Amino acid sequence: MKHLFRFSVLLISLQLFAQDYHVNLDYFLPNDVIYNQDIPTPASIIGHEIGDWHITHDKLVTYMYALANASDRITIENRGTTFEGRPLLLLYITSEVNHSKLENIRKEHISLTETNSTNTDNIPIVVYQGFSIHGNEPSGSNAALVAAYYLAAAQGEKIDEILNNTVILFDPSYNPDGLQRFAYWANTNKSKNINPDPNDREYNEIWPGGRTNHYWFDMNRDWLPVQLPESQARIETFHNWYPNILTDHHEMGTNSTFFFQPGIPSRTNPMTPKKNQELTGDIAKFHAKAFNKIGSFYYSKESFDDFYYGKGSTFPDINGGIGILFEQASSRGHAQESDNGILTFPFTIRNQFTAALSTLDAAVSLRKELLDYQKTFYTNARNEASKGGTIVFGDEKDATKAYRLAEILQRHQIEFHELKSDFSKNGKNYKKGYSYVIPKNQKQHRLINAMFQRRTSFQDSLFYDVSAWTFPLAFNLDYEENEPANRSGDLISDLKKPTIKTPSVSNYAYLMEWHDYNTPKALNKILNKGLRAKVGMKPFKVENKSYDYGTILIPVQNQKLNTSELAKFIKEVASESNVTITSVSTGMTEGIDLGSSNFKKLEAQKVAIIVGDGITPYDAGEVWHLLDQRYDMLITKLDARDFSNTDLSNYTDIVLPNSWGNALSKEEALQLKNWVKNGGTLIGYKNAGRWFNSNDLMKIKFKKKKDSTQIISFEQKRNYFGAQVIGGAIFETKLDRSHPIAFGYKNNTLPVFRNSTIFMKTDKNSYNNPIKYTDSPLLSGYISDKNLSELKNTALFKVGRLGKGKVIYFTDNTNFRAFWYGTNKLLMNAIFFGNHM
Ligand SMILES: [Zn+2]
Repeated sequence: MKHLFRFSVLLISLQLFAQDYHVNLDYFLPNDVIYNQDIPTPASIIGHEIGDWHITHDKLVTYMYALANASDRITIENRGTTFEGRPLLLLYITSEVNHSKLENIRKEHISLTETNSTNTDNIPIVVYQGFSIHGNEPSGSNAALVAAYYLAAAQGEKIDEILNNTVILFDPSYNPDGLQRFAYWANTNKSKNINPDPNDREYNEIWPGGRTNHYWFDMNRDWLPVQLPESQARIETFHNWYPNILTDHHEMGTNSTFFFQPGIPSRTNPMTPKKNQELTGDIAKFHAKAFNKIGSFYYSKESFDDFYYGKGSTFPDINGGIGILFEQASSRGHAQESDNGILTFPFTIRNQFTAALSTLDAAVSLRKELLDYQKTFYTNARNEASKGGTIVFGDEKDATKAYRLAEILQRHQIEFHELKSDFSKNGKNYKKGYSYVIPKNQKQHRLINAMFQRRTSFQDSLFYDVSAWTFPLAFNLDYEENEPANRSGDLISDLKKPTIKTPSVSNYAYLMEWHDYNTPKALNKILNKGLRAKVGMKPFKVENKSYDYGTILIPVQNQKLNTSELAKFIKEVASESNVTITSVSTGMTEGIDLGSSNFKKLEAQKVAIIVGDGITPYDAGEVWHLLDQRYDMLITKLDARDFSNTDLSNYTDIVLPNSWGNALSKEEALQLKNWVKNGGTLIGYKNAGRWFNSNDLMKIKFKKKKDSTQIISFEQKRNYFGAQVIGGAIFETKLDRSHPIAFGYKNNTLPVFRNSTIFMKTDKNSYNNPIKYTDSPLLSGYISDKNLSELKNTALFKVGRLGKGKVIYFTDNTNFRAFWYGTNKLLMNAIFFGNHM
């Protein structure tokens, strides 16, 4: 109580007499502890007191190295770099004695997940503490400076108990690029007299904001798919250590207080053991106690959940640990007016630091319980798995997609094998080299279930994030879940890229089937070289090999390169893109001959994407990342702000991602329309369709939402409307494989991701509906009955002619979070074949 009183007086006096809200290090730290003078304080290294400025990532790095240099309790590791080249640091913090035998401690800890015989009486607990995965939620990483200082400098019984009993894996910045971007914003807009007016520019970041990483991904959705470098480094650490507690320090709305888990109990993933949530509740008591002591308000259980295992606070729950989400009300900049008075940046940092310490108190007190829980978790998992059997997945036409899923398994240290020999089942062929086998009887049994499972019934109808992520569906891979153990060939311990057949020299033509995930990369290289290439509109067979719809033909004659130069170049392209290109010596085929007009001319594509205010940064970033990182294609990011001044005639394709509102004006719609009429291909996603409609770029008929009147109380209102949201689920569509949008797909059905309630009516001519939701489309995830009946038999895709150009529209995001490999090709087909649709 005394603390609370003192703090209120402090707040009032600050409001009356000062505008800088400056505090010293003492403000954050417990005052009953003596600090080692040989340990550098943050200010002595970074040049300002904590909270005076937002820490930039470079300074954070410098301080962490300084601490590691000065303290016997800390070692530091650089685990890789972000897209922008920033180091992904990890500090190992524990007692000097534990440091001297760290590898033994690690091995003994891992043995908990592998045998039942490890004694937990005296071994340390492992705690992973990570901060600010959303870069514009900065109190976490700023608190990491205080926490690291405390752990290095504090002296006495309490800290010794923590360090002797705990190995802390300390990750000061989960998202260095986002943190840096936000620090730049908050610092460059800071006034000498800090103005807490929420309207000030300081509190209103410009697009895309610092939440995301370089390519505008929400990294707190990538713990399971592991597609981003930051996640890859972190997940490697995770599986090397299997922490008992992992914390994830976030921020939320300025008018809230502080949240710690447990989240909403009915929204816990049913695969998470009950005991996990009990332990989360036990840990929560330590946070409550610490927050009572400093007078800060908090809550739990009323929001956030533990359903999607791709989030930092949920991922540990399927790996024998406890994930804890912290959410601090955000001051955004340095101090902001809020429902709870002026919320200062230092106050938010102190709360995060307090939660970091109470986590360690909980870890020490509950050490044995948490270690035993982990041991039991894996013992039970092994028992469940002992029934055996295997999962087989693959794609006989696309080794790359199968390889990319295997890569995720490898990142999660899931054991998998080659396919022993080819087999067919349910009309699908599984081929060696194009398929992999996962034995169910292994340590990661539950994680495998979490990745492969399809679920369509749920306890709750509200989800904080997606309700489904079934990996073989996202990858559009064929799979069988109950195959005998003898499907397994050699264990794969070091996954290698699929092998390709090197093309021999041809005097006539080269052919590349369009199925492999990497083919757009190869085609782009070929067209950018100024070579002539065509796409086959029909299947054919030549020299004993069948070629499907969409096969790429590269003639030898009349090219810029002579026969041997071309052969060398094609070989290079095949090897760099890791795709099979075949040389043929005749144009006579069974089916369309190579000189047929059913081979259509292709052009080099110059792609632009509209970004900026009004556009959903995630969706835009996914397209940027896909073309830039996966396909080595140049993509011009056109800012909506300057759009009217841009000469569009340079571009063949313009992508308009999902938008929140009107990113572009009526005049700019006209500008786009003229560009399309002159031959451009305009590709829109989700809400862009409504904009196309209202600006006469394309006529689209949407189903109007019917709302039947029901008796709903005020209290239930939010849940009622929430249940009508499609938060993210997986649905089946039917493909017309002869349509260029479906080139490269070997099956007649395609699983797609959907997180919207945009329902597009089909065209009366069925050939205009090449991608249509099936009659019973739900494959995995939650959707209300009402929405499901609206969705069935609607169209996902539409293409229309406008002058010499095309307008293409997708109701759904085909590039979701970089792991929806299965639908990536739809965009590439729209880009390369749009003018032949
Ligand atoms: Zn967050």
